[in-house]
Amino acid sequence: RAAEQPSLSIRNLSKAFGGVQAVNDVSFDLAKGELLALIGPNGAGKSTCFNMLNGQIRADSGSVRLAGEELIGRSPADIWRRGVGRTFQITATFPSMTVAENVAMVLMSQRRELFSLFRTAVHRHRDKALALLDLVGMAAQADRPCGVLSYGDLKRVELAVALGNEPRVLLMDEPTAGMAPRERIELMGLAARLVSDLGLSVLFTEHDMDIVFGHAGRIIVLSRGALIAEGTAQEIRSNPLVLKTYLGE
Ligand code: ADP
Ligand code: MG
Repeated sequence: RAAEQPSLSIRNLSKAFGGVQAVNDVSFDLAKGELLALIGPNGAGKSTCFNMLNGQIRADSGSVRLAGEELIGRSPADIWRRGVGRTFQITATFPSMTVAENVAMVLMSQRRELFSLFRTAVHRHRDKALALLDLVGMAAQADRPCGVLSYGDLKRVELAVALGNEPRVLLMDEPTAGMAPRERIELMGLAARLVSDLGLSVLFTEHDMDIVFGHAGRIIVLSRGALIAEGTAQEIRSNPLVLKTYLGE
């Protein structure tokens, strides 16, 4: 059987800030339907990688292809429209609007309906918004304003908003930061379900190694901007270079 084209092909990606080589010649693939973890100590270059993948930071060199199409040089809005979603920027939701209205907003913008009558449009997209909220376990709270939600619930709504754009790839930079332990495990379980049920490709970072080893199908390790290891949880756990990186710094 011919190998399926990866969702994202990252080749020789580099970025320097002044004298700091934040990301140094990094190459890897994100396969379709894969939950891939990007780990490494603080300052390893993980967020810089995410920021280059979604167009927020311009790479110095390298290539990022989405199903064959080059993304480097495109704007974040263009990359989002092409199906690379990024979750967990807290500004993504409007606190005075309800959960369902927030999800309806992304459905409207995806169909370029932003200038139509808001109430009518929210009503028209309600079923689809509820289906997305159901996916993330938030349908019961559809009519509450986002401003009153707990932090963990707000992150679920943001995930529903990202899914409203029908992404092929989802980038999650520390999605569980600031969450209680139980919420962290639930959110990563949810991400794993989206990968298996919807065939989404997810790249995420996470500090809690138990969560990484428990959920990621494959793991990539960065250290000082460079990719130093790639493999399954079992392979990464016993990799001497990885152990040295985590214990020696
Ligand atoms: P991580 O997300 O793995 O903790 P980052 O990608 O945030 O790492 O940072 C990688 C390196 O690049 C660090 O040394 C950090 O100080 C530096 N860096 C990140 N963003 C900037 C920036 N906007 N300006 C200057 N240096 C930066
Ligand atoms: Mg970071």
